[in-house]
Amino acid sequence: MSKLFIVGTPIGNLGDMTYRAVEILKSVDLVLCEDTSVTQRIFKEYGINTPTSVFYANSKIKDLNKALNFLESGKSIALVSDAGTPTISDPGFLLVEKVYSELEGVEVIAIPGPSALISALSVSGISSANFTFYGFFPHKKGRETLFKKIKESDVTSVFYESVHRIEKTLESLEKYLDLPVGETGDKRLVVVARELTKIHEEVVRGNIKEVKSYFDKNKDKIRGEFVVIVAPKSGKARD
Ligand code: SAM
Repeated sequence: MSKLFIVGTPIGNLGDMTYRAVEILKSVDLVLCEDTSVTQRIFKEYGINTPTSVFYANSKIKDLNKALNFLESGKSIALVSDAGTPTISDPGFLLVEKVYSELEGVEVIAIPGPSALISALSVSGISSANFTFYGFFPHKKGRETLFKKIKESDVTSVFYESVHRIEKTLESLEKYLDLPVGETGDKRLVVVARELTKIHEEVVRGNIKEVKSYFDKNKDKIRGEFVVIVAPKSGKARD
């Protein structure tokens, strides 16, 4: 029976590759990846020589069918993304869905590894008992609605942000969150986790004014990759 493995890979530090991920990437017939040169860095580090094929976020039906035919012929595939866990704000969901709906008997197996959202939550000091993950925020339509939703949210909010939009996002958060909440009048706790597992990794914590002013004063820190976490309205997620 052929198998589709969804393999987590590092979000920066190559040492975060798991033993099982290396074994699986060595043993499958084909590795589907986003960018061959990114995946080759891992292959080089861990002596992996499996053939690769590019699988884009907006993979055409033709590419999907190619992968499905490959699995149908009894061969196994591992799907990786450029960083972290495939299908989490990364390509792959449609492939997994089609395997379930079109290929009887093919197993889909998770090979867990890092994910930026879980790593960020784990060091945030904000409860993850209940949280909403928004992925990337829309650039225009629906953006303001989501900020309003976060403002009113009783659970922790988590989203991904790019270097191009982080300043704009902090501005919007200031507009919506710089308000006294709860009986104590405390302000909402915000955490920006940047470049996790990499040389310049840092976790910036504070109310939105403090976090924004840190990045306003340290423009050299507006670099790399970001996860933004906002505490619940009550200041405490439900346990
Ligand atoms: N699939 C990945 C995962 O499981 O985390 C997410 C891929 S998504 C295309 C890329 C976004 O994840 C970045 O824009 C950033 O928001 C976040 N991210 C990835 N690596 C990160 C890191 N080392 N530190 C902070 N955020 C990171």
